[in-house]
Amino acid sequence: MKHILQTLAFNLDALEPHISKETLEYHHGKHHNAYVTNLNNLIAGTQYEEMTLESIIKTSDGGVFNNSAQVYNHNFYFNGLKAEKTEPSEKLQTRIEEDFGSLEAFKIEFLNACATLFGSGWVWLSVKPDGSLIVEQMSNADNPLLGVNKPILTCDVWEHAYYVDYRNARPKYLEEWWTLINWEFVSENYG
Ligand code: MN
Repeated sequence: MKHILQTLAFNLDALEPHISKETLEYHHGKHHNAYVTNLNNLIAGTQYEEMTLESIIKTSDGGVFNNSAQVYNHNFYFNGLKAEKTEPSEKLQTRIEEDFGSLEAFKIEFLNACATLFGSGWVWLSVKPDGSLIVEQMSNADNPLLGVNKPILTCDVWEHAYYVDYRNARPKYLEEWWTLINWEFVSENYG
């Protein structure tokens, strides 16, 4: 099974001024694309060749894991962005208020987790088996698929996600990213 680069659901300039066309040209066109290409090259002729992306992530390590997880993580990240303003579903909003106090309190906790993640990685909002929400910091290519929690939102805090637009100012990127969250996608994932 050949993996293909997921197309973006929006034009490259649609997220400006929050995330520039140039950032997306690199982030989607170069970085995300490279993970897909590397994955296809690495799995050719191996036991991973006919597996789904999720199965590869759950059973591999090293370069195959890193590239398959980065393909999945970037699919998730780009699906979680939308230029038009959206709102969490009533059900998700209620659960956020239950677990974090308010949407604003959740924002502070999530963005703080993003700002304080050392080095490269991802921050996820996930649903635990008991139904409660949890903010998870993960390094490098890691994602919740290796555990029991179900991911519903992610933020990419690798420098390539923001360096063109905000240089070293990760917190500034995070404030802008927050305005682009596709709450319809997050709510659908929550169910
Ligand atoms: Mn990235």
